[in-house]
Amino acid sequence: MDYFLSEEEKMMVETAKEVAITKMKPVREEYDEKEEFPWDIQKEFAQAGLCGCYIPEEYGGFGKGIMGLVLVVEELCKVDGGAALCLAATALGTLPILISGNDEQKKKYLPSIADGTNLAAFGLTEASAGSDATGMATTAVKDGDYYILNGTKCFITNGGEAQTYTIFAKTNPSRGARGISCFIVEKGTPGFEFGKKEKKMGIRASATRELIFNNCKIHKDQLLSKEGHGLMVAQATLDNSRPGVAAQALGIAAGALDEAVDYARKRVQFGQPIASFQGIQHMLADMATQVEAARALLYSVARAIDAKTSKRTSKESAMAKLFCSETAMKVTTDAVQILGGYGYSREYPVEKMMRDAKITTLYEGTSQIQKNEIALNLIKESAAKNS
Ligand SMILES: Cc1cc2nc3c(=O)[nH]c(=O)nc-3n(C[C@H](O)[C@H](O)[C@H](O)COP(=O)(O)OP(=O)(O)OC[C@H]3O[C@@H](n4cnc5c(N)ncnc54)[C@H](O)[C@@H]3O)c2cc1C
Repeated sequence: MDYFLSEEEKMMVETAKEVAITKMKPVREEYDEKEEFPWDIQKEFAQAGLCGCYIPEEYGGFGKGIMGLVLVVEELCKVDGGAALCLAATALGTLPILISGNDEQKKKYLPSIADGTNLAAFGLTEASAGSDATGMATTAVKDGDYYILNGTKCFITNGGEAQTYTIFAKTNPSRGARGISCFIVEKGTPGFEFGKKEKKMGIRASATRELIFNNCKIHKDQLLSKEGHGLMVAQATLDNSRPGVAAQALGIAAGALDEAVDYARKRVQFGQPIASFQGIQHMLADMATQVEAARALLYSVARAIDAKTSKRTSKESAMAKLFCSETAMKVTTDAVQILGGYGYSREYPVEKMMRDAKITTLYEGTSQIQKNEIALNLIKESAAKNS
């Protein structure tokens, strides 16, 4: 289908495709197997100019917004949904600065993220605060011109590898959701250490690690937005970043569909290619329809975010993430089915795609949390219309 991409967008897609096929594909199994962070791949992203696709030109980026991010992430994830995360999770860690940072903070951090020399990470989750971020225990206590951070974040993508961290902590625990603030914390700040590294089902090339703050002293200039506005920063970030997860899911699904069609054409059973069996054809038709529907929804949500036609896009972003991630699970599971026993073998990429797809239904809010967000907005809209 033609989505009427601009010439610049088409060029970005072509560049991402080239990097994915020539640089990522030959090493994707190796990185997955070794559970190693793909610095070589990150350098390729940087060299190709992909890291700044969503960052405004005035800060050294390509200025292509959320649509730019979606297009690049989709293309990279068609080949490897794990290694691509060094770029995608950096976007998640960068968006709080992009959305809520002042000009000085933007000038300080965005250019090195745009040129790919610096990675970022987003630190919201804690052991007792997953879906309910307000349950966080990390505190930031004001001390003159400084804040003192104490607490532990878990499951942080790019943890240990990134230089720049956007961290959420309670500055006023008695105020609940309004007592949370967001800070930029740099790797190497005394009192900021890295803890346990997760061993995961999928996206194994991505680092997922604990961040430990032990009397970590940071200057008040590192506060993003205002004290107490942290949860709003997180929500606005997720409205913009969930399409990135949706793009990861879409890319994985599209990659698995390509593998399944190719295999079905070549695999002969009962004297004919399995692609000639209607049972297989119908599975492929359903997979292709789901992938295209996911793409159409995601692209229109990304365009709407970039057009800034409405103040919030929480419902639409949640819909895109929900639909694309659930599609990725269905399509990758069917791809494994079409490859039969070989689909279950590590010799073929679809088992990795199925493992990698699962995370997209979990992080940045599980599918249940996306449904809560969609329903809450529907009810609010109806109340506003009918009041
Ligand atoms: C590989 C990986 C990378 C991650 N990267 C990051 C990162 O970079 N930064 C970061 O901050 N976090 C990150 N996370 C954390 C991730 O966002 C959380 O795991 C996720 O939000 C879910 O939280 P939880 O695991 O505590 O599950 P829980 O919140 O304990 O949920 C458990 C189950 O209960 C359901 N549930 C919870 N509340 C409700 C409700 N109100 N209604 C219906 N069902 C509900 C959930 O859907 C889920 O099925 C990452 C996680 C993983 C696994």
